[in-house]
Amino acid sequence: MRSIAVMNQKGGVGKTTSSVNLAASLARAGRRVCVLDLDPQGHASFHLGIEAGPEMPTIYDVFSRQTTIDESRQLVAENLSVVPSNIDLAATEVELAGVPGREFILRNAMQHWKDQNRFDYVIADCPPSLGVLTINALTAMGEVFIPLQPHFFALQGLSKLFETTALVTRRLNRDLRVTGVMMCLYESGTRLAADVTEDLKQFLKSSDGDTPWASARIFRTRVRRNIKLAEAPSFGQSIFDYAPSCPGAQDYAALGDEVMAMEAPAHGARQPPANTESAVA
Ligand code: ADP
Ligand code: MG
Repeated sequence: MRSIAVMNQKGGVGKTTSSVNLAASLARAGRRVCVLDLDPQGHASFHLGIEAGPEMPTIYDVFSRQTTIDESRQLVAENLSVVPSNIDLAATEVELAGVPGREFILRNAMQHWKDQNRFDYVIADCPPSLGVLTINALTAMGEVFIPLQPHFFALQGLSKLFETTALVTRRLNRDLRVTGVMMCLYESGTRLAADVTEDLKQFLKSSDGDTPWASARIFRTRVRRNIKLAEAPSFGQSIFDYAPSCPGAQDYAALGDEVMAMEAPAHGARQPPANTESAVA
């Protein structure tokens, strides 16, 4: 089971869009995927068609230990489920302040998924902060994907982000690795996009081998700016359902292929596993 924190403390860089559409891309290729919505704004849940009202168990209830992660999981498409969130989750930061072991709640909640290889991918859509929710994601997940919007200030804040992953590897999760940076909202052909990409390449190349980002790459797939990607969330649909042939769908399909190409060879390419889960069953 690969587990991925989609993380950047900046808002509006493409975390949620990438979490949802990468997850959908992997699920369509037959992988068993679960999205964890760790943002109190609940955008990933909404994007996947789930609006978590007061009756629905959410990831807030997992953090406050009132429900299990399995009880709060919702199947939204074949092979694709989400543990939703809503604004209740905003209280978690305060409620967990000073609680011993608060960094490990998510890891403990999903330990049996790892033990049983319950999913092929768990993808955590992080909130735009480096608070307790993001720390829980970094403690529970094996990999970090960083979405980046190539504008002038894109690299600002990146060193803080990397420092945080280093701190987590020292204290909480030795196995955490930054797999790569996803270029989102990419305007191909612009000087700025090329410059930011080159600067980032140099930065990654110059990092020393002892850091969690030592083997981080820039994903080959650039996710171009595409209005369909901005429209899809309000219909509660992934880009593959909303506009399956638009450039945004092409880009996230390619990103999914790129991510799957990194799987251990034993898995086999694009063969649905036997125990697929169906939303229409
Ligand atoms: P974050 O989760 O990092 O805050 P979002 O994924 O919500 O970022 O993206 C911010 C805004 O940009 C959203 O309105 C989203 O629909 C839009 N968006 C994201 N990626 C693209 C893209 N490639 N092309 C066009 N709009 C995009
Ligand atoms: Mg978001």
